Amino acid sequence: MAGNQMTEADVIVLGVGTCGEDLSLQLLDAGLSVIGIEASLVGGECAYWACIPSKMMIRAANILQEGRRTEGVAGHADVRAEWAQVAKRITTEATGGWDDSFAVERFESRGGRIIHGRGKLAGPRTVTVGDETLTAKIGVVIATGSQPAIPPIDGLDSVDYWTTHDVISAEELPESLIVLGGGPIGCELGQVLSRFGVRVTIVEAAGRLLPGEEPEASDSLAMAFEGEGIDVKTGDLVVTVDSSGGDIEIVLASGEKLSANKMLVATGRKVDLTGLGLESVGLPTAGFIEVDERMHAADGLWAMGDMTGKAMFTHVAVYQSGIIAADILKKEHAPARYDAVPRAVFTDPEVGSVGITEAQAREQGLDVEVAVKRTPYTFRGWLDMSMTGAIKVIADRKSGVLLGASASGPRASEILGLLTFAVHTRAKLDDLRSMIYAFPTFYGGVGEAIGAYALGVQTVLDPEFEGLQPIS
Ligand SMILES: Cc1cc2nc3c(=O)[nH]c(=O)nc-3n(C[C@H](O)[C@H](O)[C@H](O)COP(=O)(O)OP(=O)(O)OC[C@H]3O[C@@H](n4cnc5c(N)ncnc54)[C@H](O)[C@@H]3O)c2cc1C
Repeated sequence: MAGNQMTEADVIVLGVGTCGEDLSLQLLDAGLSVIGIEASLVGGECAYWACIPSKMMIRAANILQEGRRTEGVAGHADVRAEWAQVAKRITTEATGGWDDSFAVERFESRGGRIIHGRGKLAGPRTVTVGDETLTAKIGVVIATGSQPAIPPIDGLDSVDYWTTHDVISAEELPESLIVLGGGPIGCELGQVLSRFGVRVTIVEAAGRLLPGEEPEASDSLAMAFEGEGIDVKTGDLVVTVDSSGGDIEIVLASGEKLSANKMLVATGRKVDLTGLGLESVGLPTAGFIEVDERMHAADGLWAMGDMTGKAMFTHVAVYQSGIIAADILKKEHAPARYDAVPRAVFTDPEVGSVGITEAQAREQGLDVEVAVKRTPYTFRGWLDMSMTGAIKVIADRKSGVLLGASASGPRASEILGLLTFAVHTRAKLDDLRSMIYAFPTFYGGVGEAIGAYALGVQTVLDPEFEGLQPIS
């Protein structure tokens, strides 16, 4: 039966967010019947609260910063930031005022049924929502995403702190902001708000910003942030938070005290499996949902997206939904693999990485060689006056296979395309050396790092450049 009241369908999708919607539309277009259950907005985090609106903000902040860079190079620009223009674009163009009726219509016009509500599994191929029980002929796909992880800090409960949702929907900005967490999201949003005139302090417990990435990337970002007046406190923990005096006051483990009008908590994401009825199909309710290489979690149950804990990115979530669609529609698809997941941080300088880091190579005792080419000393970096950034490649010493790579600097998220393809196809350095790089390009820095040009040419710009070096 197709139509808006059906209680049985080929597939039930629990959580019609980023990948839940993507999968549903694929299945509906293939002629299957689908019931989608969504607790909030059809389209999920990426569309309304994360990737799309945040990148819209970043674009605006970068335009401002380019204007501020004209002096001494191109002339004079009088740049006046106006947040209201960003807020308006996010409301009207990105999120439609956080209204999912267009997405619901897109779903239902294909013959599917959307139920707004919080659903749970009630046994194999069975889901309940409100007082309805729904059954699936083929199976259930669960994709309920992740939530902000709020650290257990003394006093935090009684403070009206911001999460990313509050930044994305902010119509006005505070004068000052403390950002808890110097990971990708804290750095991206902190820099945006700083460029719009907010006095930003980022507090990160690890010894450096972006602790999961290469130290060269962290250093580049720290240098850029310092130049923009963003205060960065690394290697320090927030021990207490208090807002009884109006402003937010925090005390760090070092004893330092900081205060600001607002505080953004950006200390990562967590997955909460309780309340989803997983016990009714014999699955644990802690950690992430375990899936195999075809995204099966149990008989007649698939899982995808953030809740699988593979890598919390939209591109991973929709990669997984493609695998499930193929599995359900009995089409060919390579099994899931995660050794070449691209990681992009859209700060300025951007950071783009794939595969293992040098630290991971060391931990694993791998026999690798590493080259680091600083972006300001690549031809294009020098031409464009890039002040920070580096390209780093890590290759197996015997076979020359590229195992990991990272770029920081302008267009690093685009350079990542070449690096990801190379790691994904297990390309060798010889392959990367023998190709022709357009000159002068930022991605050409990869060729420069691995010696695609004669070392003599390289040292014109960077006398310290040594090329690939073994690590022990
Ligand atoms: C600020 C920010 C910026 C980001 N930027 C990027 C980026 O630039 N690039 C990138 O690749 N990734 C980015 N991400 C990560 C990306 O947004 C997520 O990895 C992606 O949205 C996860 O998709 P999902 O389908 O797993 O979850 P979601 O999109 O969160 O969908 C899950 C859905 O399930 C619903 N749900 C939950 N429980 C139930 C229930 N019991 N019943 C019914 N429905 C339920 C929720 O309401 C939600 O709509 C960003 C994240 C944040 C927070």
